[in-house]
Amino acid sequence: MRPSLIVATGSATHPGLRRTLNEDAHLALAPVFVVADGMGGHEAGDRASAAVIAEFSGCVGRPSLELEDVSRALARAREAVEELSTSGDVRAGTTLSGVVVAAVDGMGYWLAVNIGDSRTYRLADGELEQISVDHSVVQELIESGELTVEEAMADRRRNIITRAIGASSTGDADYWLFPAELGDRILVCSDGLTSEVPDARIREILMTVTDPQTASELLVDEAVAAGGRDNITVIVVDAVSVASRPGTLLATDSDIDMDTRPREAAAGGVR
Ligand code: MG
Repeated sequence: MRPSLIVATGSATHPGLRRTLNEDAHLALAPVFVVADGMGGHEAGDRASAAVIAEFSGCVGRPSLELEDVSRALARAREAVEELSTSGDVRAGTTLSGVVVAAVDGMGYWLAVNIGDSRTYRLADGELEQISVDHSVVQELIESGELTVEEAMADRRRNIITRAIGASSTGDADYWLFPAELGDRILVCSDGLTSEVPDARIREILMTVTDPQTASELLVDEAVAAGGRDNITVIVVDAVSVASRPGTLLATDSDIDMDTRPREAAAGGVR
């Protein structure tokens, strides 16, 4: 059976300039494109993010995943991180953000998942849209009207997250399921990118650098050049072929139709 969605991808990571250890981890192998930003100090964050990525590695190589696959991997990841936490005196924890390739009636979809303040964006028709909603203190203050987005960037509480995998958090992940369109470019990143490089510059790079690997490396380089105060991880995923007509017998290449209809509003969030 033909895959519902074929992607081209690139990724890059860097410890930054202030930290010796890179506690970010990532997986960028179809159908899984996720970033985990570990925390906890004394290598606990390192082990937490690695444990989560290890759980999702089991899904690599499948043509597409379902919500249940992701929630199961997440549940196993939570157990693995909790085990880390109880084996020492440090409460390990990690964020998780990204997309997996999904299929609905044979059509290509993105299933985005988020817990914490790593981010998933979509660049489509020249617009860079943040899909994930940060689980952070400053995000809550933005939503309640107490802080503007600009104030939040400089607020001393900007690194405090309200949900995590591990770190004594039981907060659920958010999920979004939306149809993939030919030309979609997904960006998944840790906050080491977004706290250093403004969205407008991120958009400019994603718009002008065609190759996803080169774009990933350039984004990381910019974050390092801007100060590199945190670990930085970037994944760029491009939709290069999207099966979009349900019920078609996918016998030959010509049966794969590119969806050229106007983009419909992204399917509502599944929470
Ligand atoms: Mg970070």
